[in-house]
Amino acid sequence: MRPIQMVDLKKQYHHISDEINKAVLDVLESSAFINGPAVHEFSENLAAYLGVKHVIPCANGTDALQIAMMALGLKPGDEVITPSFTYIATTEVVALLRLKPVFAEVDKQGFCLDPEQLEKAITPRTKAIVPVHLYGQPAPMEEILSIAEKHGLHVIEDNAQAIGAMYHFENGKSSKTGSIGHIGTTSFFPSKNLGAYGDGGAISTNDDQLAEKMRMIANHGQQKRYYHDMVGCNSRLDSIQAAILKIKLEKLDAYIEARRAVADYYDQAFEASEKIKTPWRAPYGKHVFHQYTLQLENVDRDGLQKFLAEKNIPSMIYYPVPGHRQKMFDTLDNETVDLPVTDWLTKRVISLPIHTEMDKDQLAYITQSVLEYVHN
Ligand SMILES: *Cc1c(COP(=O)(O)O)cnc(C)c1O
Repeated sequence: MRPIQMVDLKKQYHHISDEINKAVLDVLESSAFINGPAVHEFSENLAAYLGVKHVIPCANGTDALQIAMMALGLKPGDEVITPSFTYIATTEVVALLRLKPVFAEVDKQGFCLDPEQLEKAITPRTKAIVPVHLYGQPAPMEEILSIAEKHGLHVIEDNAQAIGAMYHFENGKSSKTGSIGHIGTTSFFPSKNLGAYGDGGAISTNDDQLAEKMRMIANHGQQKRYYHDMVGCNSRLDSIQAAILKIKLEKLDAYIEARRAVADYYDQAFEASEKIKTPWRAPYGKHVFHQYTLQLENVDRDGLQKFLAEKNIPSMIYYPVPGHRQKMFDTLDNETVDLPVTDWLTKRVISLPIHTEMDKDQLAYITQSVLEYVHN
């Protein structure tokens, strides 16, 4: 059996290496390393894929969040609501911009912002909400948008883990995640569902003015060269990564189906176990399974991880420390923040290997091993 990895980037590359190698060599030959034609082409293709008017490429998913927040014209101390149960980048940029991250509770079954708890976190200083489509599951956007509208708040979707996921509205309309809020941000970190061979990120929006402003912010606040209208940063997707991503975007839907097939296999294998709760699939959306994350009931999680590791099966805890308990936010008076669901999940989740290249032997071995430990 092929060694099991959380993500098998090498095998995926080997399937597409002819195309990728040619595209990379073309960029090398053109020597248009920065802002070459591939950057523009990929951005246009991604805009069409997401169904948005504008895609602004940038250096990584963290920058995408930062640029989006800079474009909202917020003032120091303004509050931005995010889940605590997310990757640190979501909240870190809020603090970096001297804004105040306010942690809201997530829903126990879906892992995303709980609309009821979100509304309770709103104060007169709240200016924006950043829902995260965690593990590839769309957050309940319809409810989040209606709360945002009611209170006049901006919505930035952190779509780093869910590119390609679909949201179905009550009126029958469907939209890709990242195209629903005022702004969507994503990451092309190699292990993400649409991964580059290095760093990359992008911002999506239907708002012409925000798009223009974010383009300028990502480029030192300039529209005309050497005339700088606002303080920005330097955040670019390079041409080699764009050329690679252009090819991989064409395969994204097939990659998503491969991930969903792995999730189906796991779901079935664990269906009968009362100690394993398989991921909820929200009826309002299509999950793209960036991670396959179980909730364990009365199982020694450390013991399970160790048992699996001895059998050469990797597993991960996303994330062991929630945002409101991170040292970097010690100054925020988070002692008063009470997020029982987040704390509960932090102790009970475990993510199993999931990627586009898994075979039945690996899946059988993983599921049998998990069940062997859990039911012995
Ligand atoms: C990966 C990730 C990011 C940051 O992306 P980078 O490209 O690593 O900067 C932000 N938010 C979430 C939820 C992520 O998973």
